Amino acid sequence: MSSDEEEEAEEYLFKVVIIGDSAVGKSNLLSRYARNEFNLHSKATIGVEFQTQTLDIEGKEVKAQIWDTAGQERFRAVTSAYYRGAFGALVVYDISRRSTFDSVPRWLHELDTHSDTTVARMLVGNKCDLANIREVSVEEGKSLAEAEGLFFIETSALDSTNVKTAFEIVIKEIYNNVSRKVL
Ligand code: GDP
Repeated sequence: MSSDEEEEAEEYLFKVVIIGDSAVGKSNLLSRYARNEFNLHSKATIGVEFQTQTLDIEGKEVKAQIWDTAGQERFRAVTSAYYRGAFGALVVYDISRRSTFDSVPRWLHELDTHSDTTVARMLVGNKCDLANIREVSVEEGKSLAEAEGLFFIETSALDSTNVKTAFEIVIKEIYNNVSRKVL
């Protein structure tokens, strides 16, 4: 293989995990991003554990393998295998349910405990279409994110607001970390 061909064959595969309390919309964020689908009724995420999305970043093919907890968060902690090798994480709460926001520090702690590398982390306030029953303000989300050194965004898997942006900011940050050889 010539060096030109090697250059072209260069590609990246990064693992990204989605964490947060049950029913905050993790599965729907993933299905909205990967397949542009939304489900009104929660169904047990059995069998499907990840989806792979491909992005072009600076002419490089970057694949993100995005993992959904498959319902394991009901047992509070997901297994360490879930976190192993993750370079990015979306930590999701539901803006209409304060208890899910209060859980965020525990999810961050779990992520820190299990991760073995620098993880690009995004705090995601999902269900922003439910602003009329909002329990967590945008400012609270922002200030927690600032305090913890996370990116922050509000999304709606229902109406698609910011879903693509949320995933792609994380994936691009991972790419930047790798190219700066932080990892
Ligand atoms: P998970 O347990 O965190 O994976 O949550 P699901 O994706 O299964 O979603 C839980 C429930 O919230 C389902 O009834 C979804 O239809 C609903 N849901 C998810 N995302 C949104 C959203 O952005 N807006 C609204 N209004 N409902 C949502």
